[in-house]
Amino acid sequence: MPAHDVLIIGAGLAGQRAALAAAEAGATVAIMSKVHPVRSHSNAAAGGINAALNPDDSWESHAFDTVKGSDYLGDQDAIEIMCREAPGEVLWLEHRGVTFHRNPEGRLGTRAFGGASAARTYYVADITGQALLHVLYEQLMKFHAQIDRYEEWFVTALLQDDDGNCCGAVARNIRDGAMELFSAKAVIQAAGGAGQCFKPTTNALICTGDGIAQSFRIGAPLMDMEMIQYHPTTLAGNGILITEGARGEGAHLYNAEGERFMEKYAPNKMELASRDVVSRSEQTEINEGRGFPDGTVALDITKVPRKRTLEALREIVNIGRDFAGVDITREPIHIRPGCHYIMGGVKTDVWGATSVPGLYAAGEVACVSVHGGNRLGANSLLDTLIFGRRSGEHAAERAAGMSMPPASRAAVSDEQRAIQRIIDRERGGRRISEIKDELGTMMNEKCAVFRDEAGLTEAQATIRRLKEEADVAAIDDRGTVFNQDVLAALELGYMLDVAECIVLGALERKESRGAQFRLDYPERNDGEWLKHITLSANGADVPEITYTPVTMTQWEPQERTY
Ligand SMILES: Cc1cc2nc3c(=O)[nH]c(=O)nc-3n(C[C@H](O)[C@H](O)[C@H](O)COP(=O)(O)OP(=O)(O)OC[C@H]3O[C@@H](n4cnc5c(N)ncnc54)[C@H](O)[C@@H]3O)c2cc1C
Repeated sequence: MPAHDVLIIGAGLAGQRAALAAAEAGATVAIMSKVHPVRSHSNAAAGGINAALNPDDSWESHAFDTVKGSDYLGDQDAIEIMCREAPGEVLWLEHRGVTFHRNPEGRLGTRAFGGASAARTYYVADITGQALLHVLYEQLMKFHAQIDRYEEWFVTALLQDDDGNCCGAVARNIRDGAMELFSAKAVIQAAGGAGQCFKPTTNALICTGDGIAQSFRIGAPLMDMEMIQYHPTTLAGNGILITEGARGEGAHLYNAEGERFMEKYAPNKMELASRDVVSRSEQTEINEGRGFPDGTVALDITKVPRKRTLEALREIVNIGRDFAGVDITREPIHIRPGCHYIMGGVKTDVWGATSVPGLYAAGEVACVSVHGGNRLGANSLLDTLIFGRRSGEHAAERAAGMSMPPASRAAVSDEQRAIQRIIDRERGGRRISEIKDELGTMMNEKCAVFRDEAGLTEAQATIRRLKEEADVAAIDDRGTVFNQDVLAALELGYMLDVAECIVLGALERKESRGAQFRLDYPERNDGEWLKHITLSANGADVPEITYTPVTMTQWEPQERTY
């Protein structure tokens, strides 16, 4: 049975950064991923990473922008840590080989991003995530004596010992179906987000909320789950992202009447207001009949000099051509708000520790809460790296002071039996893909930019029905080699759990803040709702709801204008 000081589930940026930090602190590490690590979703990150690195910028300004962007729901102690440590982290990356863009003077160059009072986004063209992920993966190789990589292994459940400590996980080798138990003194969840609960989404097929649901199932509370970010610029139909970098470079938004409508909603920041504000503005234009017949508005990237577009937005040029048939250097492209990011997740402290001893979480799976009600663009890569590193360090410290906890192989048999039951299901009911499709389409209708009680209540009932259907949905592949069918059935279960928590949080929060806009409660209500909604599994049908205060350090809530 493999045993390591620290087991990391997920090999995106959060997981890889945690692995390096834990190994540097002397721990033995296992890092596991259901896809090859450099195919993790972090690979898709385009626009860049924020840091107040210029002498005329300051971490305080970055922190204030983040607090304001979060609509005052972000925890300010965590935000301060993230923004203070950002410059050092970007330099660490650059010293390890990330080829960040340099300006004509040869210095690290920045681009503007939404909700920021300074241009502080560092980038590698529009492939920043890919550049970062490949450099970190090279660094993992350097630590090969300490870090074991389990690539294309799928974690099905977390383990707890008799005292409630998280002491490992059960995983399936996707290549041959073998199940194995991995013991560990500490486990770091870095399994990414849950965008596939919505359709369409900018998120990859692998973003199915596995880590959020698995942590929740063993008792780790979830926080801010209602806060789902709709990105202002996604392609209609397929949800593919047009990076905020395009607006950062100077692109404008127009409605079908040719108006630059952001003048009405955010006269100072215009297209670079924070994402919740821009998405709501676009959706209002569309709902009030000033959009195009395909339910979109136009993003005009021809405002950016062609040479600059070809240099700094080259992937977007390809996406426009291949997925919309548009040459973005010559004509506007139609876009609309689309599901992009989950601000909520597994509740952690500033070291990534959850309330389950031995279980840590970092990256999109987690909620430390630096994003609160709305994440600023280019703050997520930063979050993955800062809190990935901190959780790696803390987990290694925990491991150094203890012996390997006992683990029972009974858990493997339980998981094996559960998978066999899926494989043995009678053919008849609905297909997994149909249920997933209905879930995503319904969430995109009832739990999107605008929400209300009637729609959310319907969503809740639909999810309950889909859960029952998922419990008996048969699969076609009964084999052991790369059986993606059986994994899809497991993923559907995770998505339904996560969707249920998103809707429950959205129903509970009777106000409008950040990404949550309730048509029936259109105002922000600091008196009653300046608090986090925390959800826990308590064995009942519906998760238990409690509240956690928002941590304030130096910024009192103000009216939010851009
Ligand atoms: C198109 C797009 C562009 C973006 N651009 C930016 C940007 O420019 N700047 C920015 O700051 N943010 C950006 N974001 C957000 C950012 O990319 C993500 O939030 C971040 O990369 C998430 O990293 P992560 O390490 O938490 O998770 P991921 O990179 O998603 O990694 C999750 C890992 O967990 C593994 N995993 C999941 N479930 C299991 C399981 N059951 N068993 C085993 N392994 C499992 C996966 O295989 C993967 O290795 C963008 C997002 C999208 C969708």
